[in-house]
Amino acid sequence: MEWPIGMNSKKKIMEKQCPECGARIVGRIDKKFCSDACRNSYNNKFNKDSKNLIRNTNNRLRKNYRILETLNPDKKTKTSRAKLIEKGFDFNYFTSIYTTKVGTVYYFVYNQGYLPLEGDYYALVKRES
Ligand SMILES: [Zn+2]
Repeated sequence: MEWPIGMNSKKKIMEKQCPECGARIVGRIDKKFCSDACRNSYNNKFNKDSKNLIRNTNNRLRKNYRILETLNPDKKTKTSRAKLIEKGFDFNYFTSIYTTKVGTVYYFVYNQGYLPLEGDYYALVKRES
């Protein structure tokens, strides 16, 4: 990412700031960082953040999957929202959504699905892969 801070109309040179330290960048138009050190430290930080995000998301999904697997050892069952929450289920994390022809929406964590029912209950279904 780059942050242009102004355009010199006479020279047609874009003035940019180093995204790592904020220093003004002088030089070639495609130069993004003021130094190799800044480029390295910026890229390392960025990679670390995205790796952490992916790892945390994977952990959430894995946990949700285990909870569904534990509650639904056969192919089909019913459980309550309270029970899912008590086990640490996080409704924000699923891998796919399946909508039937009549508009019923199933949420899936890999092949373990859940369907909100009336009265804070959930149908749990296992899809054969
Ligand atoms: Zn810099």
